Amino acid sequence: MVGAAVGDALGMQFEGLTRSEIEQLRGVDGVVDYGRAPMGHPNHKLLPGQYTDDTEQMILLSESIIERGRFDVQVFSDKLRRWGERLSARPELNRLVGETSTQAIKNLLNGADWRGSGIPANSCGSAMRAAPIGLSSRDLSEVVRDARLSSCPTHTSKGSIAGAVTIATAVYLSLEKTPDEEILSKIIEVVGGIDKALRERLREISEMNPAIEELFPGDGVSNSVYETVPAALFCATRYSRFEEAVIAAVKIGGDTDSVACMTGAITGARHGINAIPRRWRRGLEGAEYIEGLALQLFSVSERYMKG
Ligand SMILES: [Mg+2]
Repeated sequence: MVGAAVGDALGMQFEGLTRSEIEQLRGVDGVVDYGRAPMGHPNHKLLPGQYTDDTEQMILLSESIIERGRFDVQVFSDKLRRWGERLSARPELNRLVGETSTQAIKNLLNGADWRGSGIPANSCGSAMRAAPIGLSSRDLSEVVRDARLSSCPTHTSKGSIAGAVTIATAVYLSLEKTPDEEILSKIIEVVGGIDKALRERLREISEMNPAIEELFPGDGVSNSVYETVPAALFCATRYSRFEEAVIAAVKIGGDTDSVACMTGAITGARHGINAIPRRWRRGLEGAEYIEGLALQLFSVSERYMKG
């Protein structure tokens, strides 16, 4: 949870910028710390260390799970609706919520049920917030069932649902201390039953061992699950240190906050909170609250009972 928020906050300053624009701003090796987005950027209002909508939605999902002691899609969609109400009353608080979530939340505000509010787009809004499911679930079948459902209030396409399942499963398997080489193959197996296109993208990164520039050519990744989710899995499995993984995620360019958020979620779950540089933990907005949520989600999973 802290890893996800750290990644989101690090990527915040470059959201939507191309790889070359990021290099121009900070130099080739210059992405090392939180910072402010450039003048005129929609995130310029945020201070260094503040996170975006990715972490906000992850917090809503966490609070819904803790409130009930398990995931309940109705409770979660009520929270999304109330969040949408607050953002419509005070639009200046909006931290660049994506198009799909915006439309789906509008549907909730207009009275739609969670079964009818979601949009069949392939964006990554339900994947970027899915880590709490991996943290609170008791077994893999619960992870898959709840991650699927957690996507529905906003994202109903096969790709988005598979993206949410991918991230929640990656977090779950990391916490279960699954060996590195088995994490991707297990995810590919689980995701194949939901969306073959995402499975193929994940296969590419696991089998070809390509350079990051070959996998994500161009000047950054779009917000599509077919780009952001494989990019996050790539960074999380290719780099062994938290810092390297999250910086690589940001430097890909494009949807930097979401890719770094998902990378941070998986890498954080793999290596634990002490692997996150202290300067990033200290400078993170709401760090203590987020760590508290993680501990409560962990007790929901009863994983501590298993030792
Ligand atoms: Mg964001």
